[in-house]
Amino acid sequence: MPAGFPDFRLGTVLATSFTGTLSERYGTPVERIPTPQRLVDWLAVYGLAVDSCTAAQLDLARELREAIHLAATAAALQHPLPASAVQVINDRSAEGRAAAILTPEGKREWRLNADSGVEDALGVIAADAINIIAGERDGKLALCASPTCQAAFFDTSQSRTRRWCDMNTCGNRQKKARFNTNQRKNSSSAE
Ligand SMILES: [Zn+2]
Repeated sequence: MPAGFPDFRLGTVLATSFTGTLSERYGTPVERIPTPQRLVDWLAVYGLAVDSCTAAQLDLARELREAIHLAATAAALQHPLPASAVQVINDRSAEGRAAAILTPEGKREWRLNADSGVEDALGVIAADAINIIAGERDGKLALCASPTCQAAFFDTSQSRTRRWCDMNTCGNRQKKARFNTNQRKNSSSAE
């Protein structure tokens, strides 16, 4: 991994992992795909390897990312979906020409076209977002309980009571904050 760039936060759900490439939206935002190459790197992690990416394609990706963020947040709150966000998601989905391929080992792979790799990859991500926002997959959209994050995530826990987008980051921070508050309370009551 190239030095100097923020690490990726890797989740299991494609669309919400993609929105997680910008984190701490309500705190000090961290852009995890600051350059076209970092988008290329991120896509490769999710089986959407592309040869190259232009600055314009990175803009397209970020526009889709924010559209998914807005639509998924609205869906989690059971608010009406913002029309402009829906339009962007639908446009990217319609534009993508990726083919789902079944490997001899019984795995699914995506075949992207050489001349439209990024657009095809964004189409796969947009379609994934449509699936979870439309309730086509088993799970529930919810918002992260961290006030500086509030990311929409897809809760597939049995009880549907997950509180954080990511246990290792937001969940941990929250636990530590609570621990520190308790420590302070204990030490002040002892005085
Ligand atoms: Zn979070």
